[in-house]
Amino acid sequence: MAQEDVFRKLVAHCKEYGYVFPSSEIYDGLSAVYDYGQYGVELKNNIRKYWWDSMVLLNDNIVGIDSAIFMHPSVWKASGHVDAFNDPLIDNRDSKKRYRADMLIEEHVLKMEEKVAREVEKARERFGTAFDEKKFRETNQCVLATQSKIDDLNRRLAKAMNETDLAELRQIIIDNEIVCPVSGSRNWTDVRQFNLMFSTEMGSTLEGSSRIYLRPETAQGIFVNFHNVQKTGRMKIPFGIAQVGKAFRNEIVARQFIFRMREFEQMEMQFFVRPGTELDWFRHWKDIRMRWHTALGFGEANYRFHDHTKLAHYANAATDIEYRFPFGFREVEGIHSRTDYDLKQHQQYSGKKMQYFDPEKGESYIPFVVETSIGLDRMFLQVIAAAYTEEELRKEDGSADMRILLRLPACLAPVKLAVMPLVKKDGLPEIAEKIVHTLRFDFNCQYDDKDSIGRRYRRQDAIGTPYCITIDHQTVEDDTVTIRYRDSMEQERVNIRSLKDIISEKVSIGALLKKL
Ligand code: ATP
Repeated sequence: MAQEDVFRKLVAHCKEYGYVFPSSEIYDGLSAVYDYGQYGVELKNNIRKYWWDSMVLLNDNIVGIDSAIFMHPSVWKASGHVDAFNDPLIDNRDSKKRYRADMLIEEHVLKMEEKVAREVEKARERFGTAFDEKKFRETNQCVLATQSKIDDLNRRLAKAMNETDLAELRQIIIDNEIVCPVSGSRNWTDVRQFNLMFSTEMGSTLEGSSRIYLRPETAQGIFVNFHNVQKTGRMKIPFGIAQVGKAFRNEIVARQFIFRMREFEQMEMQFFVRPGTELDWFRHWKDIRMRWHTALGFGEANYRFHDHTKLAHYANAATDIEYRFPFGFREVEGIHSRTDYDLKQHQQYSGKKMQYFDPEKGESYIPFVVETSIGLDRMFLQVIAAAYTEEELRKEDGSADMRILLRLPACLAPVKLAVMPLVKKDGLPEIAEKIVHTLRFDFNCQYDDKDSIGRRYRRQDAIGTPYCITIDHQTVEDDTVTIRYRDSMEQERVNIRSLKDIISEKVSIGALLKKL
């Protein structure tokens, strides 16, 4: 099945099974804004907890905060967002569609990279085990020519973005004959800057009100609290501050479901270090964060680093962790070495010292910062895209059947176990209810007695419930039940008393954290 079809089905599945709904749907929705349903919110909470615990529980020197969404307007002047949090936009006159100029170019580069990857794969098939990929990339004329074009294009794009050279961005699009994906034409307008921050008024009267912004990132709430946390927590460098919260960006192009939203949640951690040590810490956090992703078991080959060649003015190193979504490798998380830029700016704009006295060195300095920044919603999409599976099943009579399941890691699944009486009589529902009442203090349990047992299993597969417990007539005799495993569909007969132990270990986020 084409990857676009898989993605379309995934979006429909999220809606049908109570994961994600379009916002204000009865009014035809609001572009790039979504609501999480009864299962979506549980999955989101579990991802958030996995992140939070990996930062705050596992590290003695990282603490969390929860700062307000509204901040003093000077914060955004100091951070550079008022003047420079812009995206370059371009319109196609024929389709009337609007694009981010840099993204049009990046997508063009991606297509060329895919071409190289296809050449490499073809050669791998041809040469078999004797294939030397490095040598092939260094000597194959076709690959070399495409790679050289990619490098040139990346260099040009980086320069144009760094210098905010809008005319050059347009010229790159023209020179590379990039067409509008909708109209197929090259009838482009000029490139213009567009600020992504939402603003509103604070205060009751027009004269007395002031323009404030909905924060476009959570990081600034951490920077302005740097001293509060350092002093009250008696934190010694190196230390980190973590935060999860809403951020808002008036994205020009909001496509691909919850990949790019206008209201979303970020999970950010700013790690304050001695100047000069930041690149070591940058490598350290790259490693830690990649392990956090791969521990989920979705396959290491589906992740890669994308080191930035075009660095933001405040950064001296930056990388993205990318995941292979159905629409290609895309950023899930950014890791940035932000130097002392933010604290220095706040020191300058607020007039308050942002220095730290290092008792070991006996001197004061403004710390450098390494940031890890991941979108909770984007991570949600990554998890659900990796988990969504359509499986063909062979029935005993030889005919084929289909089941759709979410292979969610058990510790992230919204419902951990469904408890089902085989029939609604003979005391079976009472036993099932008793099990739910006992286990609900430990896990999210669901009681389900509607429809045939087969349909109930399918329903639980579709929401990703890892364990189904069935109560039958034998249960009345000997206190045993069947436990059915979502992924293998295997069934096992176990004693009711052992259920908690069997399931606890598998669904605990703690067990996953121990792997890190
Ligand atoms: P992009 O290049 O995709 O716009 P970015 O580099 O601007 O992202 P950052 O500012 O580094 O993103 O934000 C950190 C993380 O926040 C991203 O890796 C992503 O997971 C998430 N994020 C950013 N913008 C959005 C958005 N509009 N919707 C959902 N998640 C987002």
